[in-house]
Amino acid sequence: MPGFPRLQESYDIAIVGGGHAGLQAGLKAALLHLTAVVIDRGPKYSRSYYSPRMDNIPGFGEGISGHALLDKQVEALRKYEERVTYVSPARASAARRSGDGYEIEFEWLKQPRKVRAKHLILAHGVVDRIPAVGGKIDPIFPWANQGLVYFCEFCDGHELPGKSVAVLGSTAYAGELALELRHFGPRSLEILTHGEPFLGDLGPAEKAELEGRLRSAGIPWSSGVLVGFDGIREKTFTVKFADGTARTFDRGFSGLGWYDMHQHLPRELGAALDPDGYVQTDEDCRVLSEKDGAPIPGLYCVGDLRSGWNQIPEAWATAERAVIDVFVQSLG
Ligand SMILES: Cc1cc2nc3c(=O)[nH]c(=O)nc-3n(C[C@H](O)[C@H](O)[C@H](O)COP(=O)(O)OP(=O)(O)OC[C@H]3O[C@@H](n4cnc5c(N)ncnc54)[C@H](O)[C@@H]3O)c2cc1C
Repeated sequence: MPGFPRLQESYDIAIVGGGHAGLQAGLKAALLHLTAVVIDRGPKYSRSYYSPRMDNIPGFGEGISGHALLDKQVEALRKYEERVTYVSPARASAARRSGDGYEIEFEWLKQPRKVRAKHLILAHGVVDRIPAVGGKIDPIFPWANQGLVYFCEFCDGHELPGKSVAVLGSTAYAGELALELRHFGPRSLEILTHGEPFLGDLGPAEKAELEGRLRSAGIPWSSGVLVGFDGIREKTFTVKFADGTARTFDRGFSGLGWYDMHQHLPRELGAALDPDGYVQTDEDCRVLSEKDGAPIPGLYCVGDLRSGWNQIPEAWATAERAVIDVFVQSLG
């Protein structure tokens, strides 16, 4: 019965995270006749869950939603229940080296559980910062679900030609993102800082330099506090400000970056992080040690959590690399 799989005491591979990368790692493990457990908090915590249409997924020329693609991946994995245990909703809280493998602690059905595996694949992604109004993040979800507010330049930049775009954010990241989005030919770009001081994360010289580039590019910024959104029926992104005014854009674009880079488990395991905070690996996705830069035995990282380009085809490719490496190692 789905939701109540039988947990074995130990596996060839434990996979933390069952988004696009973790599910592919589980499938590949099954196909290579390895045993695996996929511990997943739930599909709604995958980054793609709220994406209504993704256009770069091979085999889906008309596009596919993140939600539908996750369902397909889960369905594919469930065919191999004899080799792969899919445990969801379950949240991993700790992982440590133990003997010649790993021990992972997680909570499942409100019970603390432990499982052992020879190899551990970290696939628990990263979490976007969601624009909040009045301290709440839900007001923007209808616009995100309708594809009127975007979060990923590589995923949705191609939707911008001829559109007026509000970039939400106040940091250098938002400024640089606005400059990069010009590549896609929007009609206009404007940065909305939502009451935050613009470029407060930069020193005076860097701030002046970036402001200069934005001015030259004709990209203004404004600091009004957002109090709500409107225009969903008209398929526009209308922003309401605290002073009672409102502005209508064709699209919104988050320039807020990450809310949580999920560094807790990688740090606990001694992983090296790159300057942006992603886990560093070699080409086979073996995690590099913060101590000496050498691969940590049996430890892999795939998908968005790993230093890379945060796309689903890359999540799949890295999952394949990691599991094939486990397979090759296990042949001796
Ligand atoms: C709005 C939006 C649109 C996007 N559109 C596209 C697109 O068009 N094309 C494209 O290629 N990419 C797109 N992306 C990027 C894509 O979603 C990510 O690259 C992809 O989801 C990465 O896969 P992942 O498995 O690494 O992480 P995720 O898919 O985010 O999955 C991580 C999983 O880990 C689980 N998890 C987290 N913490 C724990 C824990 N402690 N214990 C157990 N489980 C845990 C979560 O429940 C989740 O299922 C989009 C992203 C966003 C936000």
